[in-house]
Amino acid sequence: MESVIGLEVHAELLTRSKIFCGCSAGFGAPPNTNVCPVCLGMPGVLPVLNRRVVEFAIRAGLATGCAVAPSSIFARKNYFYPDIPKGYQISQYELPICAGGHIDVVTEAGTKRVGLTRIHMEEDTGKNVHDAHVADSLVDFNRSGVPLLEIVSEPDLRTPGEAGAYLRTLRSILQYLEVCDGNMEEGSFRCDANVSVRPRGQKELGTKVEIKNMNSFRAVERALVYEIARQEQAIADGERIVQETRLWDADREETRSMRSKESAHDYRYFPDPDLLPLAVEPAWIAEIRRTMPELPAERRARLEREHGLSAYDADVLTQRKDVADYFEAGVRAGAPAKDMANWTMTEILRMVRDEKLDEALVIRTWPIGPTQLAKLIRLVTTGVVNRNTAKGLLPKLRGTELDPQELVRREGLAQVSDRAALEAAVRDVIARCPDQVAQIRAGKEKVMGFLVGQVMKATGGKANAQMVQDLLRAALAQSS
Ligand SMILES: [Zn+2]
Repeated sequence: MESVIGLEVHAELLTRSKIFCGCSAGFGAPPNTNVCPVCLGMPGVLPVLNRRVVEFAIRAGLATGCAVAPSSIFARKNYFYPDIPKGYQISQYELPICAGGHIDVVTEAGTKRVGLTRIHMEEDTGKNVHDAHVADSLVDFNRSGVPLLEIVSEPDLRTPGEAGAYLRTLRSILQYLEVCDGNMEEGSFRCDANVSVRPRGQKELGTKVEIKNMNSFRAVERALVYEIARQEQAIADGERIVQETRLWDADREETRSMRSKESAHDYRYFPDPDLLPLAVEPAWIAEIRRTMPELPAERRARLEREHGLSAYDADVLTQRKDVADYFEAGVRAGAPAKDMANWTMTEILRMVRDEKLDEALVIRTWPIGPTQLAKLIRLVTTGVVNRNTAKGLLPKLRGTELDPQELVRREGLAQVSDRAALEAAVRDVIARCPDQVAQIRAGKEKVMGFLVGQVMKATGGKANAQMVQDLLRAALAQSS
């Protein structure tokens, strides 16, 4: 069997104000404080389209190779729910602003082009808050009218892994464009999936099921794995797949039926009479095209080309713009690119993860500045300290503006490269460890590491490790 997956992403836009009124679109304010008659759906008010939202939609369209429609239409999607005060949601339906693009996704099997059906603008709904302590449900309208882009892929994805890679790539593009922060936990980047299965080689699609309620990349992949297995098993058992919406339950690790097609809403879409068709001037599109930033794929290729990074390193460093900026700032400050890449990917990103500094998905405060790290790396490459000593300095540099060189001087950590002192330590260790010396002579090369360790210990970890190796080999060759 083969699975067929299409994804629908809702991305909250980083505009200051909402899509049809001047209220703040910010996250985290006390409930019902960012509201006005427009986003509360009072009668007699008129929506006014936020130009910035259109600009962001065009940017996203241009970045993904979409055609931008010269004229598009806002419609009313009618349904009753407490979080939707007007009784309808304003959304683009028949004529979306962007259509027909694609995203190139790097997978283990190579680069895969995933088609985009459309990108359209719509307003977000309010949020129902279910109080755990009283029986009431409350509604917070701060989110009502926050601008969203809905980005719909073609059913081009074949595995949960590809779906995950597509989402990461799309999020990365939106972050580079600075139109969405991509935070799945806070709900500013949400994903629903359509999935069906069919015998391999069959042209027509199987009956599709929509999955909702996945709030992390991991959840999307887990839900798809579960749902594909469920559908395959059902077909093997001779059952018919029902077209329906299912909710992912992350605690029980299963999807559960929410509503079937038979009870699906008829949204009775019709053009919103309060909003004129949206006309986009070609000159404006051209101007936005001129000011497009470098995108992740371009930056990945450039880092490989300009800094000689491997494809893997370039990919890790460019998934997030702030990380790529950090890396390049360090290189500009004098660190060799390969070393800057290694230290950033291992030590710095580990600190960022451990201290949860990337919760907002933009690292605003780095534990150690890129210039500071570049200076520390230079101390290693010029032989002033060894790598282990340098690593040990990271906690002391953390959150300070300290010059690493100054710290090394103050703590007396400069590497022992004094030949006579190291030779004495080597002679001493050889004398103290006759068993290990005998083992090395018998061909057990691995034991060499033990002797190096003994010399390092004798010098308080400050010895130049390469020099210790060389001196040990020379001494062993001499005395054999
Ligand atoms: Zn408002």
